[in-house]
Amino acid sequence: MAERRNRIYFFHKHDEELLQQVQSLTTLAQQNDFVVVNDYRSANIIVSIGDDGSFLQAVRQTGFRDDCLYAAISTLSSRGFYCDFHIDDTDHMVQAIMNEQMEVRRYPIIEVKINDTASFFCLNECSIRSGIIKTFVMDVFIDNLHFETFRGDGMIVATPTGSTAYNKSINGAVVDPLLPCFQVSELASLNNNRYRTLGSSFILSGQRKLTLKISPEGNHYPIIGMDNEALSIQHVEKVEIKLSDRLIKTVRLKDNSFWEKVKRTFL
Ligand code: NAP
Ligand code: MN
Repeated sequence: MAERRNRIYFFHKHDEELLQQVQSLTTLAQQNDFVVVNDYRSANIIVSIGDDGSFLQAVRQTGFRDDCLYAAISTLSSRGFYCDFHIDDTDHMVQAIMNEQMEVRRYPIIEVKINDTASFFCLNECSIRSGIIKTFVMDVFIDNLHFETFRGDGMIVATPTGSTAYNKSINGAVVDPLLPCFQVSELASLNNNRYRTLGSSFILSGQRKLTLKISPEGNHYPIIGMDNEALSIQHVEKVEIKLSDRLIKTVRLKDNSFWEKVKRTFL
């Protein structure tokens, strides 16, 4: 028999006001036969309390677990993209649990390998940006094909759920998270007789690998971002990105599909 998911870990900032709200959520959880644990490693449900940025941190700091169900409770006025619940709407949470209005959705994530050694996951995107006033150069490979030589500010490689974040601000397409793929978008590419890039965003299948080889020309290395965290490795020469075999499972309310969220947020 499948193990019942009832061990909850609450991930949140430790400010006064929030702590009180977490206390009431803990009581509510206990009244509904959940065990609230203090160590995320012993949890099988991880709930972030805050905004979408907090959810990204919750998933990152708990190691992108695929044996856990993630959920997010918003403390902002609107629910955002990763938050299905609102902190003031506890009735809705209990109702959802009781009436089984929840489904599990699975979000694709990307895996980023740096300099042939360390690997990292991203739920929104991996961003590669010039750290100085000047542009930087990189060779872009799709599988083994040398596709283009990029010179400019950088590139954003986004997951489907990340497509509504940074990727959207630079005119990338919004991608349905049911599609196992990832999207590559340019940040201010130079296009002239010496440098030529595709210019538009492109979407790669989950079977492909994107490789970026950064030219150490002038010793300027770009800044690498993984969701809302900067990578601490400084001299990055090679970045390989592919879709991970792993998926992040989140609870989803039946009336809160991805396209409902897109409509609610942008239209
Ligand atoms: P932030 O600077 O507060 O985030 C910017 C905004 O993006 C916030 O309103 C955030 O929502 C929202 N957001 C985060 N993930 C989203 C998603 N998947 N779909 C739609 N909106 C999303 O920093 P943060 O809250 O830590 O979020 C980090 C993310 O910010 C990065 O992963 C990147 O995607 C994005 N970002 C965007 C730009 C840009 O558009 N120019 C630049 C840098 C970073 P909440 O307020 O609910 O957190
Ligand atoms: Mn935020």
